[in-house]
Amino acid sequence: MRHPEFISGTDFENSDAETMSNLVKLIQHDKRINMNKLRTNKKLLERLSKEQIDICFYKGTEAPFSGKYLDNKEKGMYHCVVCGNPLFSSETKFESGTGWPSFWDVIKKGGVKSEADKSYGMSRTEVLCANCGAHLGHMFNDGPSDKTGLRYCINSLALDFKKKE
Ligand SMILES: [Zn+2]
Repeated sequence: MRHPEFISGTDFENSDAETMSNLVKLIQHDKRINMNKLRTNKKLLERLSKEQIDICFYKGTEAPFSGKYLDNKEKGMYHCVVCGNPLFSSETKFESGTGWPSFWDVIKKGGVKSEADKSYGMSRTEVLCANCGAHLGHMFNDGPSDKTGLRYCINSLALDFKKKE
């Protein structure tokens, strides 16, 4: 069931895209989405939940304190849930108190890209997977001052955690 505080980037409830395969068709034909790498990869999209598609392709946001990786303290890597691109390490994860998994740095420069986001009357920096263009979350300048000073505020649903062996 969808959490009531879930901020949807689209409205699946009132769209005709109720089934997963309709959703995938919708994404594949959505001209706003630059999905060249995934356009022919239906299998990859069908692995995702409705909420994941909403976040990654329509810039939705999971409810605060709802994400499965918020309190994850295990060592490992966080990958893009859509394409598998490695994005964040457990070594840069910190408790921000905001309700979303927070990181003060990326694994490598170029792993993510950022864009100005003026939606909802706010001025924010959107963070996207540089490989596939999936929306991941936002970046703020209130991260730990003894590190980078940055806070990557990322939806758990946009991530796939792989534990260090
Ligand atoms: Zn990706």
